[in-house]
Amino acid sequence: MTERLLKAVDARIDDLVALTADLIRFPTVNPPGEAYRPCAEYVGERLRKRGFETEFIRAEGTPGDTDRYPRVNVVARFDGRSAGACVHFNSHIDVVEAGEGWTVDPFAGLVKDGRVYGRGACDMKGGLAASIIAAEAFMEVFPDFPGAIEISGTVDEESGGFGGVAHLARLGYFSKPKVDHVIIPEPLNKDRICLGHRGVWWAEIETKGEIAHGSMPFLGDNAVRHMGAVLQAFEDELFPALDRKVTRMPVVPEGAKRSTMNINSIHGGQTEDFRPGLPSPNVPDSCRLTIDRRFLLEEDLATVKSEVTDILERLKRERKKFDYEIRDLMEVLPLMTERDAPVVKAVAQGIMAIFDREPDYVISPGTYDQKHVARIGHIYDCIAYGPGILDLAHRSDEWVGIADMVESAKVMAIGLNVLLRGTVAD
Ligand SMILES: [Zn+2]
Repeated sequence: MTERLLKAVDARIDDLVALTADLIRFPTVNPPGEAYRPCAEYVGERLRKRGFETEFIRAEGTPGDTDRYPRVNVVARFDGRSAGACVHFNSHIDVVEAGEGWTVDPFAGLVKDGRVYGRGACDMKGGLAASIIAAEAFMEVFPDFPGAIEISGTVDEESGGFGGVAHLARLGYFSKPKVDHVIIPEPLNKDRICLGHRGVWWAEIETKGEIAHGSMPFLGDNAVRHMGAVLQAFEDELFPALDRKVTRMPVVPEGAKRSTMNINSIHGGQTEDFRPGLPSPNVPDSCRLTIDRRFLLEEDLATVKSEVTDILERLKRERKKFDYEIRDLMEVLPLMTERDAPVVKAVAQGIMAIFDREPDYVISPGTYDQKHVARIGHIYDCIAYGPGILDLAHRSDEWVGIADMVESAKVMAIGLNVLLRGTVAD
């Protein structure tokens, strides 16, 4: 069963490792969106040589797009000999900054002890490479397959996907009848199928004050102290309330089964660019706080927002001179693909064939490009499935296991076989 397919993947292990290392060597750091074009061209050129039709789509006018940092996406398509469904593998090519604490060069693509190291190794250049190898192996073994395979390398996932999948979805790249099934090889571990993600609400809260000389603060009104009252109310009421909400969604890790909120940043008073001099003595007239609220399928966005604004309104009534503004920065509704959806069942069959057990079905604590595939493209047969250990994403000394990539590529190849040819077996 599937013997030829698995052998075809095994025959490509060196290629898989080299491809992953090559992809890591493009320092596609976002922001600002470095090296997007050469990385997209590398992916496109590779697939063009294998007979794919490739297109490069620059998302002009989307956040961050400039001539210095163009948002260049690649979409490659291979049409089989006869009509049929289209399976699309979508990977983001952008990575987050390397940060501190690395013991290896984050952009060298070092291969060592069965791992490939580098920023983006696990999130998600290893997944992109595995999907390319899976497709190439499948096409070699079943050259007469019906339907089509698409592979895309898209940008800006780490900053919301607006110049990447969202842009392409608006142009119709993620819609029927062009595409039927979407697999996003994010690093959710090789034996797990990710059905969706929690919701997101980002907002900026600003408290207002009145500027005055720091030696006479009683003449002004301190916006930072007002924000202190907001934070105290969050600590006393909101955080404990969020911690009591638990979802039926299979979110991993366990802590993310509850509602969460992160304080992303706080800025009050003058900026720190007085250094190395001294600051001037002022009472700050503005303090801004950004919050990152992750919510559950059981919660609705209006309630999520009112939990925060109710506190702010109460402070306005109770606290002298308290005034605030709140601005929405991002909203994403929670999403969960059904377990009996075709792409879920196909990849589950792959996992059962390779690991001899049922997959774990999970929900991601954070969002990824599935939101755009569903909300803009209206393709609901979409999952995240790929190699790489979720906990390693965005960390220093990020790596992806070669054996994990190989097994994952095999699962993807079997998934293709089920979705396009309707069988696990040859
Ligand atoms: Zn990712």
